[in-house]
Amino acid sequence: MGDVLTSPAVLILLGPPGAGKGTQARMLEERFGLVQLSTGDLLRAAVAEGTPAGLAAKSVMESGGLVSDEIVLAILKDRMAMPDVKAGVILDGFPRTAGQAAALDQLLDAAGQKVSAAISLEVDDEAMIDRVAGRFTCANCGEGYHDTHKTTAKAGTCDKCGGSEFKRRADDNAETARERLRAYHADTAPLIAHYDKLGVLQTVDAMGSIEAIASALRTIVNRATG
Ligand code: AMP
Repeated sequence: MGDVLTSPAVLILLGPPGAGKGTQARMLEERFGLVQLSTGDLLRAAVAEGTPAGLAAKSVMESGGLVSDEIVLAILKDRMAMPDVKAGVILDGFPRTAGQAAALDQLLDAAGQKVSAAISLEVDDEAMIDRVAGRFTCANCGEGYHDTHKTTAKAGTCDKCGGSEFKRRADDNAETARERLRAYHADTAPLIAHYDKLGVLQTVDAMGSIEAIASALRTIVNRATG
């Protein structure tokens, strides 16, 4: 059973690669009927489709750098214009720069909306490299696994859907993860102060179990939107 939101929520998940943004966003999506909006997923789809934006983004993503604000904002605005986001969104991996945060503020302002909560997932950097370099997902249902920390119960079979195909992201290797971590600290971590100033910042210790973090996030979402 999902909790009921009394107003459309705009939630932002901040945190370095491997902090659990995607996992937690999917859990919140199920629980609250919100839409997970991951600019990384949208960009990967654009790369797979070979659109002009995808072609421009591909090599930047492979290097672990940040795709230009112009491309990311165009992709995000298209997605935000779709009707299913009306119930509310969880922004996963966006905004990542001061320019993107300012553009989001403007976009929401024009729609008479505000950020409900910006949640910073606080983690240990070195543990993130290990998490990112070992992770893979079920190609069918998207369930996340890790080579050592969360293997499938039966080798080669997804615990959740029974699927037998798995995939790894091209940028989930130690070298690229280090560059993504560097980009996070240089360009994204400063946004924590921006949302603190707006009075919507929440921080969560994200080194614990997935369920403990999910529970902390549910409390925050209920409080921010109730
Ligand atoms: P993610 O799936 O969030 O880890 O993103 C994967 C890659 O996509 C990042 O390393 C960036 O190259 C790119 N990317 C995703 N979201 C953004 C964003 N908001 N701004 C710039 N680049 C992004």
